[in-house]
Amino acid sequence: MSVLVVNSGSSSVKFELVDPDSGDSIAAGLVEQIGELQGRVVLDYRGETIEKRREIADHAVGLAVAFEILAGAGVELGADVTAVGHRVVHGGDVFHEPTLIDEKVLQQISDLSSLAPLHNPPNVLGIEVARRQLPNVPHVAVFDTAFFHSLPAAASTYAIDREIAKKHHIRRYGFHGTSHQYVSLRAAEFLGREDLNQIVLHLGNGASASAIESGIPIDTSMGLTPLEGLVMGTRCGDIDPGVVMHLRRSADMDVDAIDELLNRRSGLAGLTGVNDFRELGKRIDDGDADAVLAYEVYIHRLRKYIGAYMLALGRLDAIIFTAGVGENAAGVRADALANLRGFGIEIDPERNMMRSKEARVVSTEGSAVTVLVIPTNEELAIARAAQKLARTTTGV
Ligand code: ADP
Repeated sequence: MSVLVVNSGSSSVKFELVDPDSGDSIAAGLVEQIGELQGRVVLDYRGETIEKRREIADHAVGLAVAFEILAGAGVELGADVTAVGHRVVHGGDVFHEPTLIDEKVLQQISDLSSLAPLHNPPNVLGIEVARRQLPNVPHVAVFDTAFFHSLPAAASTYAIDREIAKKHHIRRYGFHGTSHQYVSLRAAEFLGREDLNQIVLHLGNGASASAIESGIPIDTSMGLTPLEGLVMGTRCGDIDPGVVMHLRRSADMDVDAIDELLNRRSGLAGLTGVNDFRELGKRIDDGDADAVLAYEVYIHRLRKYIGAYMLALGRLDAIIFTAGVGENAAGVRADALANLRGFGIEIDPERNMMRSKEARVVSTEGSAVTVLVIPTNEELAIARAAQKLARTTTGV
Protein backbone atom coordinates (compact mmCIF):
# COMPACT_ATOMS: atom_id res chain seq x y z
CA MET A 1 0.00 0.00 0.00
CA SER A 2 1.46 3.32 -0.97
CA VAL A 3 0.48 6.86 -1.82
CA LEU A 4 1.87 8.68 -4.82
CA VAL A 5 2.67 12.30 -4.00
CA VAL A 6 2.83 14.70 -6.93
CA ASN A 7 4.26 18.21 -6.73
CA SER A 8 3.81 19.76 -10.12
CA GLY A 9 5.68 23.06 -10.43
CA SER A 10 6.19 25.51 -13.27
CA SER A 11 9.00 23.65 -15.01
CA SER A 12 9.37 20.49 -12.94
CA VAL A 13 7.34 17.67 -11.45
CA LYS A 14 8.50 16.00 -8.24
CA PHE A 15 6.94 12.65 -7.42
CA GLU A 16 7.37 10.27 -4.56
CA LEU A 17 5.87 6.95 -3.64
CA VAL A 18 5.44 6.86 0.12
CA ASP A 19 4.31 4.23 2.58
CA PRO A 20 2.13 6.45 4.78
CA ASP A 21 2.08 3.98 7.66
CA SER A 22 5.81 3.38 8.06
CA GLY A 23 6.78 6.76 6.64
CA ASP A 24 9.23 5.08 4.27
CA SER A 25 9.95 6.56 0.88
CA ILE A 26 9.64 3.76 -1.68
CA ALA A 27 10.71 5.66 -4.77
CA ALA A 28 11.34 9.33 -5.45
CA GLY A 29 11.84 11.14 -8.70
CA LEU A 30 12.00 14.41 -10.51
CA VAL A 31 11.17 15.51 -14.02
CA GLU A 32 12.78 18.83 -14.78
CA GLN A 33 13.41 21.26 -17.60
CA ILE A 34 9.90 20.66 -18.88
CA GLY A 35 9.39 22.53 -22.14
CA GLU A 36 13.06 22.25 -23.06
CA LEU A 37 14.69 20.06 -25.67
CA GLN A 38 16.77 18.18 -23.13
CA GLY A 39 14.48 17.47 -20.20
CA ARG A 40 15.84 15.39 -17.33
CA VAL A 41 14.15 12.56 -15.46
CA VAL A 42 15.68 11.09 -12.32
CA LEU A 43 14.39 8.25 -10.17
CA ASP A 44 15.80 6.98 -6.88
CA TYR A 45 14.60 3.47 -6.24
CA ARG A 46 16.08 0.76 -4.03
CA GLY A 47 19.38 2.58 -3.59
CA GLU A 48 19.86 3.11 -7.32
CA THR A 49 19.58 6.30 -9.31
CA ILE A 50 18.19 6.08 -12.82
CA GLU A 51 18.61 9.14 -14.99
CA LYS A 52 17.30 9.84 -18.47
CA ARG A 53 17.44 12.80 -20.81
CA ARG A 54 14.82 13.38 -23.46
CA GLU A 55 12.54 16.03 -24.81
CA ILE A 56 9.71 16.76 -22.40
CA ALA A 57 7.33 19.05 -24.21
CA ASP A 58 4.88 19.68 -21.39
CA HIS A 59 3.57 18.46 -18.06
CA ALA A 60 1.51 15.71 -19.66
CA VAL A 61 4.63 14.26 -21.22
CA GLY A 62 6.56 14.91 -18.00
CA LEU A 63 4.21 12.87 -15.85
CA ALA A 64 3.83 10.18 -18.50
CA VAL A 65 7.62 9.84 -18.50
CA ALA A 66 7.62 9.68 -14.70
CA PHE A 67 5.08 6.84 -14.79
CA GLU A 68 7.07 5.11 -17.52
CA ILE A 69 10.30 5.25 -15.53
CA LEU A 70 8.52 3.95 -12.43
CA ALA A 71 7.03 1.06 -14.41
CA GLY A 72 10.42 0.38 -16.01
CA ALA A 73 11.96 0.10 -12.54
CA GLY A 74 9.32 -2.47 -11.63
CA VAL A 75 6.94 -0.29 -9.60
CA GLU A 76 3.39 -1.49 -10.24
CA LEU A 77 1.56 1.77 -9.76
CA GLY A 78 -1.87 0.40 -10.62
CA ALA A 79 -1.57 -2.38 -8.07
CA ASP A 80 0.26 -0.55 -5.28
CA VAL A 81 -1.13 2.94 -5.14
CA THR A 82 -4.20 3.52 -3.00
CA ALA A 83 -4.34 7.29 -3.34
CA VAL A 84 -2.59 10.20 -5.00
CA GLY A 85 -1.77 13.33 -2.97
CA HIS A 86 -1.25 16.54 -4.89
CA ARG A 87 0.55 19.53 -3.47
CA VAL A 88 -1.50 22.57 -4.40
CA VAL A 89 -0.03 25.96 -3.61
CA HIS A 90 -3.03 28.28 -3.28
CA GLY A 91 -6.29 27.28 -1.65
CA GLY A 92 -7.43 30.91 -1.26
CA ASP A 93 -10.47 31.44 0.96
CA VAL A 94 -12.00 28.27 -0.44
CA PHE A 95 -9.94 25.32 0.82
CA HIS A 96 -9.03 24.96 4.45
CA GLU A 97 -8.13 21.28 4.53
CA PRO A 98 -7.12 18.38 2.31
CA THR A 99 -9.87 17.89 -0.25
CA LEU A 100 -10.94 15.02 -2.46
CA ILE A 101 -10.60 16.15 -6.06
CA ASP A 102 -13.56 16.07 -8.43
CA GLU A 103 -14.38 18.22 -11.45
CA LYS A 104 -15.75 21.02 -9.27
CA VAL A 105 -12.71 21.11 -7.00
CA LEU A 106 -10.39 21.07 -9.99
CA GLN A 107 -12.26 24.04 -11.45
CA GLN A 108 -12.05 25.90 -8.13
CA ILE A 109 -8.28 25.30 -7.94
CA SER A 110 -8.01 26.57 -11.48
CA ASP A 111 -10.14 29.62 -10.61
CA LEU A 112 -7.67 30.49 -7.86
CA SER A 113 -4.94 30.91 -10.48
CA SER A 114 -5.30 34.69 -10.45
CA LEU A 115 -3.92 34.60 -6.88
CA ALA A 116 -1.10 32.21 -7.80
CA PRO A 117 -0.44 32.51 -11.54
CA LEU A 118 2.95 30.80 -11.32
CA HIS A 119 1.79 27.91 -9.15
CA ASN A 120 -1.82 26.84 -9.51
CA PRO A 121 -1.85 26.32 -13.31
CA PRO A 122 0.96 23.70 -13.20
CA ASN A 123 -0.72 22.14 -10.14
CA VAL A 124 -3.93 21.77 -12.18
CA LEU A 125 -2.03 20.25 -15.10
CA GLY A 126 -0.40 17.72 -12.78
CA ILE A 127 -3.77 16.73 -11.34
CA GLU A 128 -5.36 16.35 -14.76
CA VAL A 129 -2.61 14.12 -16.06
CA ALA A 130 -2.33 12.00 -12.91
CA ARG A 131 -6.10 11.47 -12.86
CA ARG A 132 -5.94 10.22 -16.43
CA GLN A 133 -3.05 7.90 -15.58
CA LEU A 134 -4.57 6.61 -12.34
CA PRO A 135 -8.33 6.98 -12.76
CA ASN A 136 -9.39 4.40 -10.20
CA VAL A 137 -7.90 5.82 -7.02
CA PRO A 138 -8.88 8.90 -5.00
CA HIS A 139 -6.87 12.03 -5.76
CA VAL A 140 -6.51 14.47 -2.88
CA ALA A 141 -5.38 18.09 -2.98
CA VAL A 142 -3.28 19.24 -0.03
CA PHE A 143 -2.99 23.01 0.12
CA ASP A 144 0.08 25.00 1.11
CA THR A 145 -2.17 27.71 2.53
CA ALA A 146 -4.54 25.50 4.54
CA PHE A 147 -2.68 25.42 7.87
CA PHE A 148 -2.80 29.21 8.03
CA HIS A 149 -6.45 29.68 7.08
CA SER A 150 -7.41 30.61 10.65
CA LEU A 151 -4.75 33.28 11.18
CA PRO A 152 -6.17 36.00 13.43
CA ALA A 153 -7.59 38.88 11.38
CA ALA A 154 -5.00 41.23 12.91
CA ALA A 155 -2.27 39.13 11.28
CA SER A 156 -4.01 38.30 8.00
CA THR A 157 -5.36 41.75 7.12
CA TYR A 158 -3.47 44.21 4.93
CA ALA A 159 -4.12 47.82 5.84
CA ILE A 160 -5.51 48.83 2.46
CA ASP A 161 -8.98 49.92 1.29
CA ARG A 162 -11.23 47.23 2.72
CA GLU A 163 -13.63 47.19 -0.27
CA ILE A 164 -10.82 46.63 -2.76
CA ALA A 165 -9.25 44.01 -0.51
CA LYS A 166 -12.55 42.14 -0.22
CA LYS A 167 -13.36 42.32 -3.91
CA HIS A 168 -9.96 40.98 -4.95
CA HIS A 169 -9.47 38.50 -2.06
CA ILE A 170 -6.41 40.41 -0.88
CA ARG A 171 -5.27 39.16 2.51
CA ARG A 172 -2.34 37.29 3.98
CA TYR A 173 -2.73 33.56 3.31
CA GLY A 174 0.68 32.11 4.22
CA PHE A 175 2.43 29.21 2.46
CA HIS A 176 4.62 26.18 3.32
CA GLY A 177 1.75 25.30 5.66
CA THR A 178 2.21 21.55 5.26
CA SER A 179 5.79 21.87 6.45
CA HIS A 180 5.02 24.27 9.32
CA GLN A 181 2.25 21.98 10.51
CA TYR A 182 4.37 18.83 10.22
CA VAL A 183 7.43 20.14 12.06
CA SER A 184 5.45 21.97 14.73
CA LEU A 185 3.57 18.75 15.51
CA ARG A 186 6.84 16.84 15.58
CA ALA A 187 8.31 19.45 17.95
CA ALA A 188 5.34 19.15 20.32
CA GLU A 189 5.68 15.34 20.26
CA PHE A 190 9.45 15.51 20.69
CA LEU A 191 9.19 17.74 23.74
CA GLY A 192 6.05 16.01 25.00
CA ARG A 193 4.07 19.23 25.24
CA GLU A 194 0.80 20.26 23.66
CA ASP A 195 0.94 23.84 24.92
CA LEU A 196 4.15 24.64 23.08
CA ASN A 197 4.68 28.21 21.88
CA GLN A 198 7.07 27.98 18.98
CA ILE A 199 8.64 29.83 16.10
CA VAL A 200 9.16 27.65 13.04
CA LEU A 201 11.79 28.75 10.52
CA HIS A 202 11.40 26.91 7.22
CA LEU A 203 14.59 27.90 5.40
CA GLY A 204 14.85 26.26 1.98
CA ASN A 205 15.04 27.83 -1.41
CA GLY A 206 11.77 29.45 -0.45
CA ALA A 207 11.77 30.54 3.19
CA SER A 208 9.09 31.38 5.72
CA ALA A 209 8.65 31.84 9.45
CA SER A 210 5.61 31.20 11.61
CA ALA A 211 4.55 31.80 15.20
CA ILE A 212 2.55 28.86 16.58
CA GLU A 213 0.64 28.82 19.86
CA SER A 214 -0.40 25.37 21.11
CA GLY A 215 -0.53 24.05 17.55
CA ILE A 216 -2.42 27.04 16.11
CA PRO A 217 -0.54 29.50 13.88
CA ILE A 218 -0.97 33.14 14.91
CA ASP A 219 1.29 34.70 12.30
CA THR A 220 3.40 33.77 9.31
CA SER A 221 5.77 35.66 7.06
CA MET A 222 4.37 34.90 3.59
CA GLY A 223 1.30 36.82 2.49
CA LEU A 224 -1.02 37.00 -0.50
CA THR A 225 1.74 35.23 -2.40
CA PRO A 226 4.96 33.49 -1.33
CA LEU A 227 6.88 36.69 -2.09
CA GLU A 228 6.49 38.36 1.31
CA GLY A 229 8.71 37.89 4.35
CA LEU A 230 12.18 36.45 4.62
CA VAL A 231 14.97 36.86 2.06
CA MET A 232 14.87 33.72 -0.13
CA GLY A 233 16.92 32.02 -2.84
CA THR A 234 15.42 34.07 -5.67
CA ARG A 235 12.64 36.10 -3.98
CA CYS A 236 13.10 39.46 -2.29
CA GLY A 237 10.79 38.93 0.69
CA ASP A 238 9.58 42.15 2.37
CA ILE A 239 10.00 45.18 0.20
CA ASP A 240 8.45 48.66 0.10
CA PRO A 241 5.61 48.38 -2.47
CA GLY A 242 6.80 51.79 -3.60
CA VAL A 243 9.63 49.95 -5.36
CA VAL A 244 7.06 48.42 -7.72
CA MET A 245 5.56 51.80 -8.61
CA HIS A 246 9.01 53.30 -9.01
CA LEU A 247 10.08 50.54 -11.40
CA ARG A 248 6.84 50.88 -13.33
CA ARG A 249 7.26 54.62 -13.73
CA SER A 250 11.02 55.06 -13.95
CA ALA A 251 12.32 51.82 -15.45
CA ASP A 252 9.35 51.30 -17.76
CA MET A 253 9.02 47.72 -16.60
CA ASP A 254 5.64 46.06 -17.07
CA VAL A 255 3.98 43.90 -14.44
CA ASP A 256 5.40 40.64 -15.81
CA ALA A 257 8.94 42.04 -15.83
CA ILE A 258 8.57 43.22 -12.23
CA ASP A 259 7.04 39.88 -11.23
CA GLU A 260 9.99 38.08 -12.78
CA LEU A 261 12.48 40.43 -11.11
CA LEU A 262 11.04 40.04 -7.61
CA ASN A 263 10.31 36.31 -7.82
CA ARG A 264 13.26 35.01 -9.81
CA ARG A 265 16.06 37.56 -9.86
CA SER A 266 16.00 38.81 -6.28
CA GLY A 267 16.91 37.43 -2.87
CA LEU A 268 20.32 35.77 -2.70
CA ALA A 269 20.35 35.32 -6.48
CA GLY A 270 19.69 39.01 -7.03
CA LEU A 271 22.41 40.09 -4.64
CA THR A 272 25.08 37.59 -5.69
CA GLY A 273 24.07 35.73 -8.85
CA VAL A 274 23.66 32.44 -6.97
CA ASN A 275 20.68 31.15 -5.02
CA ASP A 276 22.24 28.01 -3.59
CA PHE A 277 23.35 28.45 0.01
CA ARG A 278 26.34 26.13 -0.34
CA GLU A 279 27.67 28.21 -3.22
CA LEU A 280 27.03 31.37 -1.20
CA GLY A 281 29.11 29.90 1.64
CA LYS A 282 32.01 29.21 -0.73
CA ARG A 283 31.91 32.78 -2.01
CA ILE A 284 31.88 34.15 1.53
CA ASP A 285 34.93 32.01 2.32
CA ASP A 286 36.62 33.50 -0.75
CA GLY A 287 35.97 37.00 0.61
CA ASP A 288 33.34 37.99 -1.99
CA ALA A 289 31.86 41.27 -0.64
CA ASP A 290 28.49 40.80 -2.41
CA ALA A 291 28.12 37.36 -0.85
CA VAL A 292 28.97 38.71 2.61
CA LEU A 293 26.37 41.47 2.26
CA ALA A 294 23.72 39.03 0.97
CA TYR A 295 24.31 36.82 3.99
CA GLU A 296 24.06 39.79 6.35
CA VAL A 297 20.79 40.91 4.75
CA TYR A 298 19.46 37.34 5.04
CA ILE A 299 20.36 37.04 8.74
CA HIS A 300 19.18 40.56 9.59
CA ARG A 301 15.70 39.81 8.18
CA LEU A 302 15.56 36.46 9.92
CA ARG A 303 16.39 38.02 13.30
CA LYS A 304 13.74 40.70 12.77
CA TYR A 305 11.08 38.01 12.33
CA ILE A 306 12.30 36.02 15.32
CA GLY A 307 12.08 39.15 17.47
CA ALA A 308 8.64 40.06 16.15
CA TYR A 309 7.26 36.58 16.74
CA MET A 310 8.66 36.41 20.27
CA LEU A 311 6.51 39.41 21.10
CA ALA A 312 3.52 38.10 19.15
CA LEU A 313 3.65 34.89 21.21
CA GLY A 314 4.40 36.58 24.52
CA ARG A 315 5.97 33.40 25.84
CA LEU A 316 8.38 31.43 23.67
CA ASP A 317 9.25 27.78 24.38
CA ALA A 318 10.94 26.56 21.21
CA ILE A 319 12.52 27.67 17.95
CA ILE A 320 12.53 25.12 15.14
CA PHE A 321 14.85 25.15 12.14
CA THR A 322 13.85 23.10 9.12
CA ALA A 323 14.30 22.63 5.32
CA GLY A 324 17.57 22.57 3.33
CA VAL A 325 19.26 25.58 4.93
CA GLY A 326 17.63 25.30 8.36
CA GLU A 327 18.55 21.63 8.70
CA ASN A 328 22.07 21.84 7.31
CA ALA A 329 23.56 25.29 7.74
CA ALA A 330 24.80 25.37 11.36
CA GLY A 331 26.25 28.85 10.77
CA VAL A 332 22.84 30.27 9.87
CA ARG A 333 21.35 28.84 13.07
CA ALA A 334 24.20 30.23 15.15
CA ASP A 335 24.06 33.69 13.54
CA ALA A 336 20.26 33.90 13.63
CA LEU A 337 20.32 33.34 17.39
CA ALA A 338 23.65 34.94 18.35
CA ASN A 339 23.78 37.06 21.53
CA LEU A 340 20.24 36.30 22.68
CA ARG A 341 21.14 34.85 26.08
CA GLY A 342 19.37 37.83 27.65
CA PHE A 343 16.18 36.54 25.98
CA GLY A 344 16.75 32.99 27.23
CA ILE A 345 18.01 31.68 23.90
CA GLU A 346 21.42 30.01 23.77
CA ILE A 347 22.76 27.71 21.07
CA ASP A 348 25.20 24.98 22.11
CA PRO A 349 28.06 25.22 19.56
CA GLU A 350 28.90 21.50 19.74
CA ARG A 351 25.33 20.27 19.47
CA ASN A 352 24.74 22.75 16.69
CA MET A 353 27.65 21.41 14.63
CA MET A 354 26.56 17.77 14.88
CA ARG A 355 25.14 16.44 11.64
CA SER A 356 22.15 14.12 11.74
CA LYS A 357 18.98 13.36 9.83
CA GLU A 358 17.05 13.05 13.08
CA ALA A 359 15.19 15.67 15.10
CA ARG A 360 17.56 17.10 17.70
CA VAL A 361 18.10 19.80 20.29
CA VAL A 362 20.86 22.31 19.51
CA SER A 363 20.42 24.67 22.46
CA THR A 364 22.26 24.45 25.78
CA GLU A 365 20.78 22.73 28.84
CA GLY A 366 20.37 26.15 30.44
CA SER A 367 18.59 27.77 27.47
CA ALA A 368 15.04 28.67 28.52
CA VAL A 369 13.97 28.40 24.88
CA THR A 370 14.69 25.00 23.33
CA VAL A 371 16.18 25.27 19.87
CA LEU A 372 15.49 22.25 17.65
CA VAL A 373 16.40 21.04 14.20
CA ILE A 374 13.52 19.00 12.80
CA PRO A 375 13.78 17.62 9.27
CA THR A 376 10.66 18.45 7.33
CA ASN A 377 8.88 15.87 5.21
CA GLU A 378 6.14 17.48 3.18
CA GLU A 379 5.71 14.38 1.01
CA LEU A 380 4.96 12.20 4.01
CA ALA A 381 2.55 14.78 5.41
CA ILE A 382 0.76 14.95 2.04
CA ALA A 383 0.72 11.14 1.76
CA ARG A 384 -0.80 10.79 5.24
CA ALA A 385 -3.40 13.46 4.57
CA ALA A 386 -4.33 11.77 1.28
CA GLN A 387 -4.53 8.33 2.85
CA LYS A 388 -6.68 9.59 5.72
CA LEU A 389 -9.16 11.22 3.38
CA ALA A 390 -9.14 8.29 0.96
CA ARG A 391 -9.95 5.95 3.87
CA THR A 392 -12.83 8.01 5.19
CA THR A 393 -14.36 8.50 1.75
CA THR A 394 -13.80 5.12 0.15
CA GLY A 395 -13.18 2.85 3.12
CA VAL A 396 -9.88 1.66 1.54
P1 ADP B 1 13.19 23.80 -1.69
O1 ADP B 1 12.42 22.56 -1.27
O2 ADP B 1 12.56 25.09 -1.25
O3 ADP B 1 13.65 23.81 -3.11
P2 ADP B 1 15.26 22.85 0.13
O4 ADP B 1 14.52 22.75 1.41
O5 ADP B 1 15.67 21.61 -0.56
O6 ADP B 1 14.53 23.83 -0.87
O7 ADP B 1 16.56 23.75 0.42
C1 ADP B 1 17.42 24.13 -0.61
C2 ADP B 1 18.51 25.00 0.00
O8 ADP B 1 19.16 24.26 1.04
C3 ADP B 1 19.58 25.41 -1.00
O9 ADP B 1 19.87 26.78 -0.86
C4 ADP B 1 20.78 24.58 -0.57
O10 ADP B 1 21.97 25.22 -0.82
C5 ADP B 1 20.56 24.48 0.92
N1 ADP B 1 21.35 23.37 1.47
C6 ADP B 1 21.22 22.06 1.23
N2 ADP B 1 22.18 21.34 1.87
C7 ADP B 1 22.95 22.26 2.50
C8 ADP B 1 24.12 22.19 3.33
N3 ADP B 1 24.69 21.02 3.61
N4 ADP B 1 24.61 23.35 3.82
C9 ADP B 1 24.05 24.53 3.54
N5 ADP B 1 22.96 24.67 2.77
C10 ADP B 1 22.42 23.55 2.26
